[in-house]
Amino acid sequence: MSEEGLLYICATPIGNLADITLRVLDTLKNVDFIAAEDTRHSRKLLNHYGIKTPLLSYHQHNERQRTAEIVQRLKNGEKGALISDAGMPGISDPGQVLIRECLAENIPIDVLPGPNAAITALVLSGMPADSFLYLGFLPTGKKERREVLAQVAELPYTLIIYEAPHRLLSTLEDILEILGEREAAVARELTKIHQQVHKGLISELLAEFQGVPPKGECCLLLAPYNAEKKTGEPAAWLEELRRLEEAGVDRKEAMKTVAKLYGIRKRDIYEACLVMEEKKGR
Ligand code: SAM
Repeated sequence: MSEEGLLYICATPIGNLADITLRVLDTLKNVDFIAAEDTRHSRKLLNHYGIKTPLLSYHQHNERQRTAEIVQRLKNGEKGALISDAGMPGISDPGQVLIRECLAENIPIDVLPGPNAAITALVLSGMPADSFLYLGFLPTGKKERREVLAQVAELPYTLIIYEAPHRLLSTLEDILEILGEREAAVARELTKIHQQVHKGLISELLAEFQGVPPKGECCLLLAPYNAEKKTGEPAAWLEELRRLEEAGVDRKEAMKTVAKLYGIRKRDIYEACLVMEEKKGR
């Protein structure tokens, strides 16, 4: 009788080639085959570590057909590994179909932990990490994207979003409109030479990136919705604004602080000021 097959789900580096565990290296060396999202990309990693295990492609477009082939090989007693281009397979990457099929067929799987962009960004940003919601990539269609944002607008968790750099600005615009002002962070080029975390209010990040568009891979993090902040009415915002200005804070800064305090947009305060001035003028 043949040995029992097994599939290892292996996390690989998200930028820095040294971020790979000894167990993953050992496994990749010793399995019968490695299923990889992009074999040319993964070959570079394997060459770097002198690993000669045969590769087969397993990506979004051949996931179903390849799953059947891989499951058959595992049933025949082979041992295989699944890797993606970066980080943990199955997390905004192919893997789920194969994993579920193995489980359905009682083929044992094991996960070898390692790098993941979302967790790295969360910890590096200093955003609340006790409870968070991973959203992965938002839908690319504007309507669908805004629907998802509306669903999560009032959740008390840090939100983690993967975004392509060329879409970051329009995503931030939608977020500001639907979620209102709040603290945010953009973590770029994690584990690489130009790793950088940009922090600020959503409107500040928008202003920053309008000047210099972001480059490289990025994760966007949004502070949890704070229900307490939303209780203030326009009169309370204006009272806070007046108090800050009396204390010597200039209007721009004061508006920013009030927006943050109440989880609203600066534009809302500005409009409230106009309404108040109009009333006074009557
Ligand atoms: N499976 C991966 C993981 O475990 O994180 C995610 C793969 S997903 C296709 C790629 C997205 O992850 C990128 O668009 C970006 O949002 C994020 N990402 C991956 N590497 C990153 C890095 N070095 N710095 C910042 N974000 C990264």
